[in-house]
Amino acid sequence: MEQISNLYPLLSTPRKVVITMHQKPDGDAMGSTLGLYHFLIQFGHEAAVISPTNWASFLNWMPGVKNVLDYERQTEAANALIEKADWIFCLDFNTLSRTKNMEAALAAAPGQRILIDHHQQPQTEVFTYGASDVSKSSTAEMVFDFIAGSGHADLINKSIAECIYTGVMTDTGSFRFPSTSANVHKLVATLKEHGLAHSIVHENIYDNFSESRLRFIGNVLLNRMEIFYEYNTALIAIPAVDLVKYDIKTGDTEGLVNYPLSIEGIKLAAIVIDRGEERKCSFRSKGNFDVNTFARKYFNGGGHFNAAGGQSRETLENVVITFKKAMMENRDQLSTYKF
Ligand code: 5GP
Ligand code: MN
Repeated sequence: MEQISNLYPLLSTPRKVVITMHQKPDGDAMGSTLGLYHFLIQFGHEAAVISPTNWASFLNWMPGVKNVLDYERQTEAANALIEKADWIFCLDFNTLSRTKNMEAALAAAPGQRILIDHHQQPQTEVFTYGASDVSKSSTAEMVFDFIAGSGHADLINKSIAECIYTGVMTDTGSFRFPSTSANVHKLVATLKEHGLAHSIVHENIYDNFSESRLRFIGNVLLNRMEIFYEYNTALIAIPAVDLVKYDIKTGDTEGLVNYPLSIEGIKLAAIVIDRGEERKCSFRSKGNFDVNTFARKYFNGGGHFNAAGGQSRETLENVVITFKKAMMENRDQLSTYKF
């Protein structure tokens, strides 16, 4: 994988470009891809953004989102774009398997794959160019760095500013997590100078949900959360019936895993959701508990040191049992309690 700065001199020659992201894209995946899209089209590149799956409706206000293809619903059109693309930008994921049903098409694509991502352990051999940096708050921050590094910061417009801000804001927990560096605050200042109305982005993302989603959260916190004080750990397990009862859609459960971390002393929070075809897990930690390793070891997943995810084909009950065993095995790192 060559460094991404080698692309800078090539930017001014129009090419066929595909920009893609991980399945079930979050604010950073959608924000970074659309931010890059609004940058590249200014050079005359023929660019298309493809998501491997559908996405949360709270992203539907984003500039350019109406033209994003959903690979599962527009497979033929997406495959045609992938086959013809000179460049395929892969943003906010670093192993092709994170694109689910799109993996085979991406792997077979004749064009050059380009990585921009901040997760651990990239599959570097499948990318021609790339930037991979786990110290970055978000892929959106890296897109900003790409734009500024190429010497074209003057091309940042309101659309780019809104997209990049969405990614940085959502991946830093609204500028709260330790990854929120001085660079992050400086880039926000630059985005403000280019027309960003940050409070509107915040409202669009966080204040756009249904009443039933809020009642669902009430039910989850009351009935589906277990606290293991001896292990400084909390687990939320959500059965499929809850998702039906409260009409829960893609994205409605995002951020729920963070709630137990507000309880004094909790170092590890986990959520398991029965999504029918699989049990989806998310893990968040505070301080020195490494959930990336934890997710890889027990739940076929990965992510970052303090935020990771995974999945399982076992029943919800069995995933809960596996989690409790894993928690006990890690008691030396989790517990301050004398057993
Ligand atoms: P979330 O819990 O919000 O789904 O994901 C947290 C972090 O872990 C994200 O950076 C995401 O990319 C990563 N992640 C989530 N699920 C998986 C998974 O199944 N496999 C891997 N490798 N990473 C995941
Ligand atoms: Mn991200």
